[in-house]
Amino acid sequence: KKLGFAIVGLGKFAQEQMMPAFKDCKYARITALVSGSPDKAKKLAAEYGVDAKNIYNYRNFDSIKDNPAVDVVYIVLPVGLHAEYTIRAAKAGKHVLCEKPMANTEKDCQQMIDACQKAGKKLMIAYRAQYEPFNLEAIARIRKGELGKVMQITADHGRIVDPTGDQADTWRVQKKLAGGGSLMDLGIYSLNAARYLTGEEPVEVTALEMSDQADPRFKEVEDRIHFTLRFPSGILATCTSSYSTEGVKRYRVFGQKAWLDLDPATDYYEHKMVIGDKDGQQQPKIKEGNQFAAELDHMAECVLQNKTPKTPGEEGLKDIRLIMAIYEAARTGKKVKV
Ligand code: NAD
Repeated sequence: KKLGFAIVGLGKFAQEQMMPAFKDCKYARITALVSGSPDKAKKLAAEYGVDAKNIYNYRNFDSIKDNPAVDVVYIVLPVGLHAEYTIRAAKAGKHVLCEKPMANTEKDCQQMIDACQKAGKKLMIAYRAQYEPFNLEAIARIRKGELGKVMQITADHGRIVDPTGDQADTWRVQKKLAGGGSLMDLGIYSLNAARYLTGEEPVEVTALEMSDQADPRFKEVEDRIHFTLRFPSGILATCTSSYSTEGVKRYRVFGQKAWLDLDPATDYYEHKMVIGDKDGQQQPKIKEGNQFAAELDHMAECVLQNKTPKTPGEEGLKDIRLIMAIYEAARTGKKVKV
């Protein structure tokens, strides 16, 4: 059985990556669309075979509760709207898949968790990298001890944010809708990777931030932020996040026996792993897989089998709590314990 998903927010990521991925899903299909633009919704409904009576807007969204064709609401809106729509979806009796980063504040994250719990519905945060084969292979090799004891990690994520050239970037430079700058949008990949690669939770963070105050893009949100994480076992992670440098999505894990590179690590369709040690380097053969479909199917399977998602609301909250600690460290210039 395929569960019905309602897509909330028909923007760039929804249209270009997620909606096309449903064709590769075993347990998920699109049954409803939620949009402020009726023409766009009608056109996409026709394209994806969605019944026109299952098109909603942001005002009548709550009536989705009466629609048995919808099991899961997938929220692909600007971050500042994630909490409101997750809570409304839970109140409508629907399970929720919500895009990363989870929300602007820890309080919003907690309210999202509470609303879904109260409604007896699943909440999953769409951390696609945790459903992606190269990242899963990296985790497996680390756990098997292939690198020896892991000592440190570096992770870099960045791209040029372009609010005048790319419609999808207009909200990303507005604090209210984005919650913050490159750290919320991209640095979160470095942060989340450092956590899933080590399997540990950081206990201490430091950070430095640099944003050109004369650049209109960085009036409300930060450009570059570098942060360091200390893990309980002693592993250190050094991460960078940027909105003003050419695209990068990579990490390196340094063990006592070997290092492992993933570059790109968190791309949509392309990944490359290299492992190096004193004898040289090798590039393991790993098959690319559709991480978007894997993520959607995981959500559906969790609902069908009544399982807790691998990346539940609590996972999203952990990152937001750490992001707030990183901002505090950058602001105060002091180490922050978490
Ligand atoms: P986008 O701007 O293209 O899409 C957002 C959609 O929300 C648009 O269709 C917009 O019209 C709609 N919207 C509704 N109310 C709005 C309001 N009040 N203000 C602004 N827009 C409003 O952005 P996007 O890049 O598609 O990002 C959407 C979400 O997906 C974000 O949460 C983002 O972080 C996430 N995302 C995740 C990934 C990933 O790899 N997991 C990649 C890109 C984006």
